[in-house]
Parts: sequence; C-alpha cells; structure tokens
Amino acid sequence: MTIAENLSVIRQNIPYNVKLVAVSKFHAQEAIQGAYDAGQQIFGESRMQEIASKQSILPSDIEWHFIGHLQTNKVKAIVPYIHTIHSVDSLKLLEEIDKQAKLINRPINCLLEIHIAKEDTKYGFSYEKCRRFLMDGQWKKCIFANIIGLMGIATDTDDDQIIRNEFRELKRFFDELKSDFFSQTDLFKELSMGMSHDYKIAIEEGSTMVRIGSAIFGNRQYK
Ligand SMILES: *Cc1c(COP(=O)(O)O)cnc(C)c1O
Repeated sequence: MTIAENLSVIRQNIPYNVKLVAVSKFHAQEAIQGAYDAGQQIFGESRMQEIASKQSILPSDIEWHFIGHLQTNKVKAIVPYIHTIHSVDSLKLLEEIDKQAKLINRPINCLLEIHIAKEDTKYGFSYEKCRRFLMDGQWKKCIFANIIGLMGIATDTDDDQIIRNEFRELKRFFDELKSDFFSQTDLFKELSMGMSHDYKIAIEEGSTMVRIGSAIFGNRQYK
C-alpha cells in the first residue's frame, strides 16, 4: 500500500469533524511530501531538531503539531512555525509558550497532556494535578498560549477494553473541565486521543483529533 492509499483508507474511517494528524516522526521528507500531495496538511512531530529541519524545506502551508515531550528551553525555536502543541504538562511550559508566542504576536494552540496509561512515564498531568493546575488560575494570564483541550496516550496493549476505559475516562474528565473552567469560551473543544492501533476506539469514545503514524507511513526504524 502506498502512503496515499493508506491515507484514503484512514480517512474513510474518520468522521469529517475529526482531525487527522499525520505523525511523520522518523520518516523522510519525501514521505511527508507524498502525504501532502495526497491532500494531507496536518503533520505531527515529536523532536525539536527533526521538526525544525523538515519545516524549513517542506511546503509553508503545512500545519505543524508538536506531540512529543517539550523542554522549556526548546520552545523558542519551534514557536515561529508551530500551530499546536499537544504535550503541555506544566505551568512553566505553558508560560514559556505564552511568552514566546507573545513576542511574535501569534497565538499558539495548546493541549494539556494527561497521563492516562498504566505504563509509568514522567510525562503528563495526573487528573488530580490537572484539576489543581486549573483551579490555581495562573494559566489564565497566558493569553497567547490558548488551552484548546486535552491529549492522552492509552496503554500499549491488545486489550481493547483497557484502552476503551482509559479513553472514556479522559472524555469524562474533558467534559468536567469544560463545564468547570471553560464554559465561557469556545476554545476548549479538542480531545486528542487515538493512534494507529487504537484510533477507531478513540473516535467511538469522543476523540476530535487522532495522531496516526505507522498506519500511514509504515513502521519506523525505532520509537
Ligand atoms: C509516535 C506517536 C504517535 C503515532 O503513533 P503510531 O502508533 O505510529 O500511530 C501518536 N502520538 C504520539 C504522542 C506519538 O509519540
């Protein structure tokens, strides 16, 4: 299957109101160009160096999303061209995005990453920490870093029920935050969940953005 064929199959599985982020990390510029030529405009990358070099040579109307862990000192470099950051998990990071976005006078979309999987990782807010972060209210000063929703990565397992439960809980949390903190704004509306092996479940559970890599581009050399 070619990249264009893969994309076409995936598009048939995704409702029109769900955004497809084509995750192109570890794939060459030619592969991205191929997907772009097949009509794909949103691409996700997870490493600073990689997105910087690809961005500089690929079409300028690509909408670049950052989906990996982001260090505060790397924010400045990607802000000029980044559209959405899926992995905001601290006030410090949000404030730095806000500061850099303000300097170029362009808002940046931010998703709060929530740790929903059983696996241990350092990244993402727990539900409890995220609630406290929002209650604290400091984030409201960040008017150039717009919080537009939540992102979560489900447990890497073949047990669909575990995945479904994690997505369902994240959607419930999203609805709770929407009514508790964002009822006065239309900005908070995105739920980024679902990857190659679990995006169909994610969509059934209310995802509005799926991040799909290997099902489009084939296997990566490494993770
Ligand atoms: C790599 C990655 C994806 C895409 O994974 P696939 O299994 O290749 O679809 C999605 N989200 C995040 C955060 C990733 O790091």
